[in-house]
Amino acid sequence: MKNKLIAICGALAMLCSAGSWAAATITIVNGDPAGVGFNDPTPATPVGGNSGTTVGAQRINAFQQAASIWGATLDSSVPIRVLATWEALPCNDTGAVLGSAGALQVFANFPGAPQPDAWYGEAETNKLVGFDADPDLPEIRARFNVNLGQPGCFTGSPFYLGLDNNHGPLTDLVAVLLHEFAHGLGFQTYTDDATGELLAGIPSIWDYFLLDTATNKLWKDMTDAERAASARRAGRLVWNGANVTEAAQLVLRPGTPLLTILSPSRVAGVRRIGVAQFGPPLASPGVTGEVMPVIDTPPDTGLACTPLSAPNVRAVQGKIALIDRGGCTFVEKVRNVQNAGAIGAIIVDNAAGTPPPDLGGDDPTIVIPAVRISLQDGAALKDVLATRSRTKSGLFANLGVNLAVRAGADPSGRVLMYATDPNLPGSSVSHYDISAIPNQLMEPSINDDLSHKVTPPRDLTYPLLRDIGW
Ligand SMILES: [Zn+2]
Repeated sequence: MKNKLIAICGALAMLCSAGSWAAATITIVNGDPAGVGFNDPTPATPVGGNSGTTVGAQRINAFQQAASIWGATLDSSVPIRVLATWEALPCNDTGAVLGSAGALQVFANFPGAPQPDAWYGEAETNKLVGFDADPDLPEIRARFNVNLGQPGCFTGSPFYLGLDNNHGPLTDLVAVLLHEFAHGLGFQTYTDDATGELLAGIPSIWDYFLLDTATNKLWKDMTDAERAASARRAGRLVWNGANVTEAAQLVLRPGTPLLTILSPSRVAGVRRIGVAQFGPPLASPGVTGEVMPVIDTPPDTGLACTPLSAPNVRAVQGKIALIDRGGCTFVEKVRNVQNAGAIGAIIVDNAAGTPPPDLGGDDPTIVIPAVRISLQDGAALKDVLATRSRTKSGLFANLGVNLAVRAGADPSGRVLMYATDPNLPGSSVSHYDISAIPNQLMEPSINDDLSHKVTPPRDLTYPLLRDIGW
């Protein structure tokens, strides 16, 4: 997320804790008032290698851990200062802003800039020029959600403060910190991805690498309107940088999960899907069958939240069941059509937008594959299904993978960026796409299977920073 210049550093009682590492030094500047955040005196039991005995001390130790991982990875002779605070960020029991971070200042056309007419974050600017371009201000501003785990904000599920990534069902703070520090180091465009407007008329260094494969234009060469449209073009916004593309061969798994409509010809083709976190992963050759809808809610919706009626069982038995989102969990829906004899499940989203998110949930008894498609794609399939008989539709589909394309890359091997329709402020563009397998640190959401790695063969964060000049 972006941050405007905030000149409050001098007004703070700063408690700076610094450490030196092999390649770069990252210093955390504690911007919290007494008793809050890093200064929270609530006693805490040491956990997962974090020996702090108060909540505040454990938070500082987790920050030091993330700073040391990035410090060991980066190369800069100029110390990087992160002004960090714990604050009330937007939160409820189903979603939370865990944190946000960005460069405090940006610079362009400085002596020795590798790319003229391009904004660089200050931490990278300092690395490139070899001195601190503005010694009065920290380079990175970071905020983290102080309420996580409190009533009404992921109640009972606070950050895991251990350093060993053994977070179980909790959100791993070190992983969140690695993510947010990356934004502050330059993993972001300073261009407004909702309007397409450049910052002060100059592209960001990112905009020299953001390529729209639908128009074959780089963001730096587009009009504002073209950029705003490109930010919403899921599956067509890619990173056109040599380090990321080469590393993707090592990091991303071959095989993009897909729904392929085989017939009738008017809807045939590949559809973008969200994959299920339960049941078998999609494979090759996958599951092929006729698609039949469940209809249990007037006028013609199928929620499949209860065991299927006899006519619905007859319709989906041996077929791929098409059901609608809503009313109960994804796991309950898929279990009900599985019990009715379906060989796969397609869940149609009930909210507009692309790409379709993954299907969350957990149930070891589910053995059929399930996917989510967008509301728009669902409407196209339902149009075909409108002319079905009780047991036949003529709509045939395959739930499988395209082994020629890596999960999270385009057919040319370029890594997909997170383009969404509608635009999601703070998430769109300045992240990798959610289709990457394995999950990447710089996807818009923190997945629970992340490591603390920022480099290949596990992660693509550092290769992108290399592309922009780190
Ligand atoms: Zn982010």
